[in-house]
Amino acid sequence: MGRITGPVCRLCRRDGLKLFLKGSRCDSPKCAFERRPTPPGVQQKRRSKPTDYGLRLREKQKLKHYYGVLERQFRTYFARAERGKGNTGETLLSLLERRLDNVVHRLGFAASRAAARQMVMHGHITINGRRVDVPSYLVRAGDLLRVKNRAKSLQLAHAALADFRREVPDFLSRGDGPIPEGRVDRLPASEDVSIPVQANLIIELCSK
Ligand code: SF4
Repeated sequence: MGRITGPVCRLCRRDGLKLFLKGSRCDSPKCAFERRPTPPGVQQKRRSKPTDYGLRLREKQKLKHYYGVLERQFRTYFARAERGKGNTGETLLSLLERRLDNVVHRLGFAASRAAARQMVMHGHITINGRRVDVPSYLVRAGDLLRVKNRAKSLQLAHAALADFRREVPDFLSRGDGPIPEGRVDRLPASEDVSIPVQANLIIELCSK
């Protein structure tokens, strides 16, 4: 069999789940994880049982890869979640889910979070009528996101929407007018996160 996986897909195989990092390919039979879900380089060998530390680290890496955040940013989210009044794990997941690049992707305006990040940075998205070009911007309940009314922005969003096969999550609603737009109906909860993750293990790891 030829080479079926690139660097991004290797993350899915290493983390042991689909992280949906490559847009429409992730929902197609070409998905490298569907074709070969074992971690790279260990197809024939039996993996030794991961340590407690290894399990916790894997959960954290999974979350970082899924949202495309680096260690330093992740630590910032964790510190903020720890300072919050609620459950630290739930707050952490909610903060990550509120990132503007994530919301743009989950509304279907970009095929992946990486594409959504580019879209935001290039000024294709407005919130409540104002351009916001910071992918880590945290949306609030009631925010109205709209694709900018210019040819390039509309072309990008419509192309992504045409290929988008996933459901819009419950905390968002998407309009069906000619200019793609969506509203944040409420703040996301941990149930709105679409990958299985054991937040308690991450808390145990990061609290040390
Ligand atoms: Fe690659 Fe997407 Fe499949 Fe992951 S889910 S292996 S990124 S195609």
